[in-house]
Amino acid sequence: MLIEEYVAMEKEYGANNYRPLDVVIERASGVWFYDTEGKRYLDCLAAYSAVNQGHCHPKIMAALIEQAQYVTLTSRAFRNVQLPLFYKELHDLTGFEMALPMNSGTEAVETALKAARKWGYQIKGIPENQAEIIVCSNNFHGRTISIVSFSTEEQYRHDFGPFLPGFKIIPFGDAEALRAAITPNTCAFLVEPIQGEAGIIIPPAGYLNEVASICREKNVLLMVDEIQSGLGRTGKLFAYMHDGITPDLVILGKALSGGYYPVSAVLSSKEILGLFHPGDHGSTFGGNPLACAVARAALCVLVEENLTERSAELGAFFLEKLSSIKSPLVESIRGRGLWIAIELTASARPLCEALKERGILCKETHDKVIRLAPPLTITQEEIAWAAEIIREVIEESSQAL
Ligand SMILES: *Cc1c(COP(=O)(O)O)cnc(C)c1O
Repeated sequence: MLIEEYVAMEKEYGANNYRPLDVVIERASGVWFYDTEGKRYLDCLAAYSAVNQGHCHPKIMAALIEQAQYVTLTSRAFRNVQLPLFYKELHDLTGFEMALPMNSGTEAVETALKAARKWGYQIKGIPENQAEIIVCSNNFHGRTISIVSFSTEEQYRHDFGPFLPGFKIIPFGDAEALRAAITPNTCAFLVEPIQGEAGIIIPPAGYLNEVASICREKNVLLMVDEIQSGLGRTGKLFAYMHDGITPDLVILGKALSGGYYPVSAVLSSKEILGLFHPGDHGSTFGGNPLACAVARAALCVLVEENLTERSAELGAFFLEKLSSIKSPLVESIRGRGLWIAIELTASARPLCEALKERGILCKETHDKVIRLAPPLTITQEEIAWAAEIIREVIEESSQAL
């Protein structure tokens, strides 16, 4: 089939809730995508950081195929041989006492919200139905009605009301605003350590430290959404580790499966996750043996291939290469690990289109930001090549202005 035919079929029969670049991927390997015409593209999005381990990683694939031959789904009505090992390995890697597995990142966020409310009522003693959760403006935590209830993105909410009460929104990066917003009914503060969808917004130095100490002082749970920032992306296993804090609850998804399968989880203490009793919460697919086998392999690859360390080193290299680009089109370039934003003075979409023509796939976020987040398996040579192409495309576009 021709590229135009795939595009036309998708438009005809599918809901139009995305605006993809018109490139039709047929296969992928490591950091490279191949389209239906055999043209190759460097993946600089990594499925919003779900493919930190690189596409079609052979070790994760082997785990998937092997487990698929034994048993894929038991439901949690019965036990399976993979889930206990997944729990134990998550604990060993992260230090958190317990986990609760889900599928999509959004479901893990929902799980965290439920855990926080339960803790608020049962441990903190908040009066029934009075619990408040504080979040930040420009957050991205998912798309369900409860989660868009506290989004500040007008389009995410438009015509989806009525919304869920019990949330307070404060500016991101402002610890004093958190202190001021907390009431005796506040059970939790939910925050992305670095705001990804908002354009890789890094808060002021010391922000998370202050937030952590305010939460401790006021007996409020600190919940960090590491769905995009976690698992090596920023050059630490979790982005909160740059600040040396320990949150009460961590939300994981995306790279937890290396892109093979939706796997998410909430990590926390026995005090908090221990509040869930049979029937309180669940998911047919959550914790299924196929997901657990895939996630175990994905975590193993992350550690064995030193992907976190690679992200730190190669991210610094990439940022340095890009920082030398001088163009009136570039407002700022920032990043942490292999998570880099090029903020432009104009719309980023035409540059993404131009980069596609030159063999690099990335996606604009919030109109004026190009987000670069390649798989963490990318090599220094590939980065050097990409940085040159990006320089050329930006310089050519600046001239065209
Ligand atoms: C992607 C993402 C989510 C939602 O995850 P899904 O798997 O798309 O449901 C939530 N929070 C953050 C920070 C994300 O990047």
